[in-house]
Amino acid sequence: MKIATAEFLTSAPTLAACPPPAAPEFAFIGRSNVGKSSLINLLVGRRGLAKVSETPGKTQLINFFSINAAWLLVDLPGYGFAKVSKDRRADFNEAVADYLEQRGEVLRHSFVLIDSRLPPQKLDVAFLGWLAAETAAPYSLVFSKADKQSKSKTQLSVQRFSREVVADLARPPVATFTTSAVNREGRSEILGTIGTLLGS
Ligand code: GDP
Repeated sequence: MKIATAEFLTSAPTLAACPPPAAPEFAFIGRSNVGKSSLINLLVGRRGLAKVSETPGKTQLINFFSINAAWLLVDLPGYGFAKVSKDRRADFNEAVADYLEQRGEVLRHSFVLIDSRLPPQKLDVAFLGWLAAETAAPYSLVFSKADKQSKSKTQLSVQRFSREVVADLARPPVATFTTSAVNREGRSEILGTIGTLLGS
């Protein structure tokens, strides 16, 4: 898919403040500092579109970007702190949980970022457990920062995650990507997937 236009649309602090559902939405989420803003800028080809964070976890707004006037890229606030609570949903930003649970069919797909260099992190495991069990939209995994280590180490990391985490999820991810904002790995694959899901 070619990106012809990418424009910031609006920011929303809550689900109620989100724009009325119109175009298909593709959401991006991950732990703070996982490389989400860098990936979004890589995908849309605009360096400053999503603000690369200097203070991890600072951005708590849902940001909407209109892409090619055809679909919306939704930048969800990163999760960054672990709490152990009975209500698993309470571990994540309320607006994020509401959006992922209740946005409806306009949310076509979520991309969950995982740092490719790390062993499975508790917070990612908790988030994916909740996402797979409590929400309906299809999702994929995106292993970020792949340039920071060898391809074989990244593959081992993906395999370990698959064995130790994905195997226990109520709904499996649709696809798995490896990406790098430095060498652009994964860009055409993710955009190709979005294009296919849009039917273009
Ligand atoms: P966010 O908090 O998830 O939005 O993460 P950012 O995009 O702000 O990135 C966090 C830090 O990781 C920044 O210092 C980025 O420059 C760095 N970073 C992000 N993506 C990559 C990548 O693919 N490769 C490398 N080497 N560094 C990255």
